[in-house]
Amino acid sequence: MKAVQLPNWKSDPLLIEVDDPTPGPGQVVLRIAGAGLCHSDLHLLHDFEEGMLPWHVPFILGHENSGYVHAVGAGVDRVSVGQAVAVHGPWGCGRCPACDRGQDTYCVAPLDGYDSAFGGGLGTNGGQAEYMLVPDARFLVPIPDALDPVAAAPLTDAGLTPYHAVNLSLHKMTPGSNVVVIGAGGLGHMGIQIIKAMSAATVVAVDVKPAARELAVKSGADVVIDGGADDVAAQIKEAAKGGAEVVIDFVGTDATLATAVGSCKYQSDLTLVGVAGGSFPFNLYAPPYETAMRSIYWGTRTELKEVLALAAKGLITPEYRTYALDDALQAYADMAAGRLTGRAVITP
Ligand SMILES: [Zn+2]
Ligand SMILES: [Zn+2]
Repeated sequence: MKAVQLPNWKSDPLLIEVDDPTPGPGQVVLRIAGAGLCHSDLHLLHDFEEGMLPWHVPFILGHENSGYVHAVGAGVDRVSVGQAVAVHGPWGCGRCPACDRGQDTYCVAPLDGYDSAFGGGLGTNGGQAEYMLVPDARFLVPIPDALDPVAAAPLTDAGLTPYHAVNLSLHKMTPGSNVVVIGAGGLGHMGIQIIKAMSAATVVAVDVKPAARELAVKSGADVVIDGGADDVAAQIKEAAKGGAEVVIDFVGTDATLATAVGSCKYQSDLTLVGVAGGSFPFNLYAPPYETAMRSIYWGTRTELKEVLALAAKGLITPEYRTYALDDALQAYADMAAGRLTGRAVITP
């Protein structure tokens, strides 16, 4: 089959030909419907060095995957051949307390035979290929009939991660409250839609890119601010009536974190999702007293079911552009050049 491979650290991806996977006991092979590209893939390609992570190159890229069950190994009875499923990305041990909660993201031990719990496309063969081996049927979530399986692919990360961030602060998104969303790209535009679907809070979205600001409007943001404006902090304070109850930073540079902190008031929630690697000097006076700061990574398997249910009801709709597998390297080039609005999804 054809697949998009990371051949080595600090390399560009390659389109290669590899053997089709076959399922062992308990395993499932999917025929891929959609495999999303994620901005974090660019960091994975260009920023990571040998030894930084317990991963081995080469591997097939793609950690946002959906497909149809193509073949099952001995003992698999959770799914049947032909069924449309989404892949819960992190692949934990299945035995620790985090895995018990469906929160394989925070598993303390990898699955037997694997180097880490990061999952397919992250140090282990992922879904940017015609077929994908999933090592345990436990990682598969059925896609509701009302949802296009291709649309389910970006929802497994670009939907699930914002959903987790929103869930953790949902109790603060009361009617009359304000939520500041920084970054309206692949994850951020989903975050806006999820907040609007789950609460009556006012959403103030901030982005430096005009196309992303248009997407923020389309996604339901109540106020949209140019993140490149000189008085961005003042504009946010005015829109959020002095400060937001909840601030979610989907970018994570020094500049966006400064904007995020400046958007808080006493007792805000400030959640960092973006992987840009910026930092903020935490001290007694900033952010404002009793602001709760957290970083997050992905979401639980139960939350993935809920995200798919929201999308099946038509309450959230991911913005994406599809690419044939043969055009996958163009998709990476478009993402790197900032030419995408929303997600790129490979449809083999
Ligand atoms: Zn991702
Ligand atoms: Zn575990």
